[in-house]
Amino acid sequence: MASKKKLRKIGDERREFKSEWTESFAFIANSNGLPTCLIYKEQLANNKKSNVERHFQIKHSQFATTYPIGDLRKKAVKELQESLKKSTTTFYSWLQSANTINIASFLVSQEIAKRGKPFTGVH
Ligand SMILES: [Zn+2]
Repeated sequence: MASKKKLRKIGDERREFKSEWTESFAFIANSNGLPTCLIYKEQLANNKKSNVERHFQIKHSQFATTYPIGDLRKKAVKELQESLKKSTTTFYSWLQSANTINIASFLVSQEIAKRGKPFTGVH
């Protein structure tokens, strides 16, 4: 009787974002721990180096050429991270002012209610 040991696949679920991908491919890990491109803020579905690398080389070949790996790229990536921080801040301040949007849509719905069937309260 041959006992066959099932080979457990390690890898897929154990993959983690590698910090070196930030400098090499301009990727950071988002709150879900998934790689997110700093250039277009695109999120990849899994932490696979080949995916990250391919995304960078195909979609951002110009960035790769403009900022060759090393100090130049490090600096460029750092600037991208800074601008991301700024845009996040902008987003939050936009959220805080989003109340006005709710008020506007409330007014619009009131307007529609007024123009539509009048409320009779009787059915
Ligand atoms: Zn990208």
